[in-house]
Amino acid sequence: MEAEILSNINTIKVRIEAACEKSNRPAKSVKLLLATKTVPSDRIKFVLQMGYRLIAENRIQELKEKFEDLKEIDHVNHFIGHLQTNKIKDILKYNVSCIQSLDRIDLATKLNDRLELEKRTIDVLIQVNTSGEESKFGIHPDLAIDFIKQVAQFKNLRIKGLMTIALLSAESEKVRECFRLLKSLQEQIIAADIQNVEMKELSMGMSGDFEIAIEEGATIVRVGTAIFGERLTSDSYYWNEN
Ligand SMILES: *Cc1c(COP(=O)(O)O)cnc(C)c1O
Repeated sequence: MEAEILSNINTIKVRIEAACEKSNRPAKSVKLLLATKTVPSDRIKFVLQMGYRLIAENRIQELKEKFEDLKEIDHVNHFIGHLQTNKIKDILKYNVSCIQSLDRIDLATKLNDRLELEKRTIDVLIQVNTSGEESKFGIHPDLAIDFIKQVAQFKNLRIKGLMTIALLSAESEKVRECFRLLKSLQEQIIAADIQNVEMKELSMGMSGDFEIAIEEGATIVRVGTAIFGERLTSDSYYWNEN
C-alpha cells in the first residue's frame, strides 16, 4: 500500500509539473493539497513523513479522530468540507489554518464572532458554485463579489482567494468553463480593489481534472483518489445538503 501511494504521488507530481510547463507557469506556483477524507492516519503520516505538508479534511469528526495521531508531525491543515455553524467551536480546536469552504454570511458572522472571542484570525477561501448544480455547496457566482465585500468587513477573517468544485463530467470543455469562471471572478475581485481581501489563491482541480485547472490558473489542486485510491463513501455524502 505504501509503495503504491509513493508511486501515485510521484506520478501526480510529474503531471502537475507537465501541466505547469504546458501553460508556461513555474512548477512552484501550484501547491498539492492531499484530500485525506476516509484515509487512515497511518497512511497520512506516511505521506507527511515524505515531506508533503498540506492536507485537508471534509468533516470535523474525522479531523478530530486524526488530530492526536498527526499532531507531532509538522503539517498544514485546511478544511474543504461543508461547515455547519454548530461546528465552529470544534474546528478551531484542531489546528486548521484555512477554511476553503466559506460560502454563507451566517457562517462568516458566527465564525468571526468566535475568533474575536478567542482573539485570533483564520484564513478563508470563498467557495463558489461554478457548476450550477443545485446540489453543490458554494455561493452563486453572481453573488460572489457582494458576498466578499461583506466578508471583508470581518476583521478576524483573512480572505486569501477562491475555491470551487467543477462539474463532474467527461466533457472537458464544460469542466474548463467552471475553472474559467472562477478565474474571471478572481480578476473582477482584484479589479474591485476591496480592502482586506487578497486574491492570490485559486483552489481548483481534483484527481480527475487538475491538469485543466492548472491550465486555467489553479494555485492549489486538491487530490485524493489518485493518490490514496478509491473511497468507499460516495462523494455526495460530503458534498450535498442531504
Ligand atoms: C474529496 C475532495 C477532493 C478530492 O477529490 P478526488 O477526486 O478524490 O481527488 C477535492 N476537493 C474536495 C472539496 C473534496 O471533498
